[in-house]
Amino acid sequence: MRLIVKILIRIFVFFYLTILTQIGGIVYIISLFLNKKWKTKLNLKPIITFCGVYLVSILIIIPLIAPLFGREKVRHSDSIKPTNYLTVLLNRNYIRPKLNEILSQVEKELEGTDIEIHYLDANFPFLNNFPLLPHLSHNDGKKIDLSLIYETRSGEITNKQKSISGYGVFENPKETEQNQINKCLNLGYFQYDYSKYMTFGKINKDLVFSEKGTKKLITNILKNKEIGKLFIEPHLKQRLNLNNSRVRYHGCRAVRHDDHIHIQLK
Ligand SMILES: [Zn+2]
Repeated sequence: MRLIVKILIRIFVFFYLTILTQIGGIVYIISLFLNKKWKTKLNLKPIITFCGVYLVSILIIIPLIAPLFGREKVRHSDSIKPTNYLTVLLNRNYIRPKLNEILSQVEKELEGTDIEIHYLDANFPFLNNFPLLPHLSHNDGKKIDLSLIYETRSGEITNKQKSISGYGVFENPKETEQNQINKCLNLGYFQYDYSKYMTFGKINKDLVFSEKGTKKLITNILKNKEIGKLFIEPHLKQRLNLNNSRVRYHGCRAVRHDDHIHIQLK
């Protein structure tokens, strides 16, 4: 009985780590094997082995192998950064080289402004059709989510965010704007605003959504013809007066996009 429970727990941990980081499950199996070889009485041995193998994998090995699968890490710079470094630690920061080129180009276009590019979930390093949950479509290296831009109450653009994870603090529709959120929720798509549970905490509550900053970021992204689609909630599309045909609605089956924008290559 005890053996069966042990095996079931290991299977659960394997799947959980795989869903979260793609390589975590394999790293877990390797670390179980190494634990058997490593003769020490240290209590923390399993954790030390797992963390050691995991860190060596994500920092050294995977960046070397990912290009064989047509992907590379999002290149950081002074103004291209993850909103939360957990994205990097969880291995969710891989994209096709073309998307890196586009981000660099947008960064150049934004020179002289205070706007930085803060990215959220992108893709895992390997295998097409392996989804990066909860985003079903982030499965081919072509997709990346970006943070909205905020400003102070006096209109100064800032690169701070309103949620620790970068997700889940919404810029709600005004009374006069289209309310697609209610529409989807009323149709029974209960997952539509689930990201409200993913904030990891709300911060910088005095900041407000920057229309000028977010619009500038979006128009510069859309200057690039290789970008096939950009998703943003309909009321923000309306508020920012975004007329480009590549600004699309993602549908009720996704989650609401008024806490971030999603861009993807053609
Ligand atoms: Zn997305």
